[in-house]
Amino acid sequence: MEKFLKDVKRKIEKEGKRNNIGEDTIKRLLLPERFLEFTIEIGGRYISAYRCQHSSILGPYKGGIRFSEQVTRDEVEALSILMTLKCALIGIPFGGGKGGAIVDPRKISEKEREQLAREYVKGVFPIIGPETDIPAPDINTDEKIISIMADEYSRIVGKCSPGSFTGKAIKDGGLAGRSEATGYGGFAVLEEVCRVKGLKNPKIAVQGFGNVGLNFVHYAEKAGFKIVAVSDHAGGVKREEGLIVKDAVKSKHVADIKGERISNKDLLEMGVDFLVLAAVENVITEENTDRIRAKHVICLANGPVTRKAEEDLHQKGVVVVPDILANAGGVVASYCEWKQAQKERKCSKEEVFSSIAKNLKGSFCELESLMKEKSDKKLTLSCAAISVALSRLEKGYLKKNGESK
Ligand code: NAD
Repeated sequence: MEKFLKDVKRKIEKEGKRNNIGEDTIKRLLLPERFLEFTIEIGGRYISAYRCQHSSILGPYKGGIRFSEQVTRDEVEALSILMTLKCALIGIPFGGGKGGAIVDPRKISEKEREQLAREYVKGVFPIIGPETDIPAPDINTDEKIISIMADEYSRIVGKCSPGSFTGKAIKDGGLAGRSEATGYGGFAVLEEVCRVKGLKNPKIAVQGFGNVGLNFVHYAEKAGFKIVAVSDHAGGVKREEGLIVKDAVKSKHVADIKGERISNKDLLEMGVDFLVLAAVENVITEENTDRIRAKHVICLANGPVTRKAEEDLHQKGVVVVPDILANAGGVVASYCEWKQAQKERKCSKEEVFSSIAKNLKGSFCELESLMKEKSDKKLTLSCAAISVALSRLEKGYLKKNGESK
């Protein structure tokens, strides 16, 4: 996981230099503003937990909480930096944060899960709040857990505080469409890439069939796109003429989809128009870049392609749509939920989805124009995305410090 953090920081340094971003801004972005580490005790077990507040240059810290045995301090920091870059890129007035705890909540009882959620909130309580840091769901933290967390926060402050967390269940002040938002956003990006590049009837393979992958597949299939393969951690399934995925969208099991059984490795190496990565980090690395035959890669997971692999794919002519753009649908929806909690206005699902599509499609077009304008063959979409984010962060940083460029 150390590599993930190094890769993210290296990208900031490199794009900072290429775009003449001030040294002070870059130094500030290479270090988190605050990193809280604490221990949760549950049933005699000690669980390490974290909250990283990377940057508040553009607004309150925003980012999910991940409960997984794979969580590390470095991973939490890297993911918080991606949140800062993502919000800056898509123009949402939030900063970047991330949280996590080293625990698999599926291995503990329901009562202990609730205790874990409440203890996590007690640990981060002094540094979070609706105007300072607003956590959200991530891997293994669903709307039920987030509702418990918002309830614990409200209990401590002694009043209902729906703006303290986003991603709550609808009955607890959550937003219609929030749970589908990231997958839907990925679908909106797919539509835009096809429109801009004039692609018709592309073949699509999707790794990951959880919240993000499943919702991506659902909207893509509904719009008539051909999904030729999908997988989860246990393996995949393929059918060249197109899978019928809609039944499995209900059961959420790849095993319920009819087709030829394949491994995750087979799926990654398929000759498709789009390879959509919606599972975990470091899926395409220097080790397998040579075998990737997809023409476009859409990164819905955070950090699924390493920095070097991204450069190598770009050299081969593969278009890699970066995570900070492709998976930004969730944070656009979070912003709508946060505004809703401030009682500014209630958002319908249609409004949320239209905001996501407008935002992500607009950002993709902005990057396309920048790539044309620079006409630098080495410039990847990810570099262009980071350079747009960095120039917005630099403006914010100078404004905060009373200077201007
Ligand atoms: P999830 O836990 O709901 O689903 C993950 C899926 O990936 C599951 O189908 C799982 O079986 C599969 N998987 C796990 N390990 C795998 C492996 N080694 N090979 C193949 N498949 C594997 O998680 P999610 O919420 O869908 O998140 C997926 C990714 O998207 C994560 O990187 C997350 O940080 C990112 N993301 C999620 C959101 C969101 O709103 N949920 C927002 C932005 C980014």
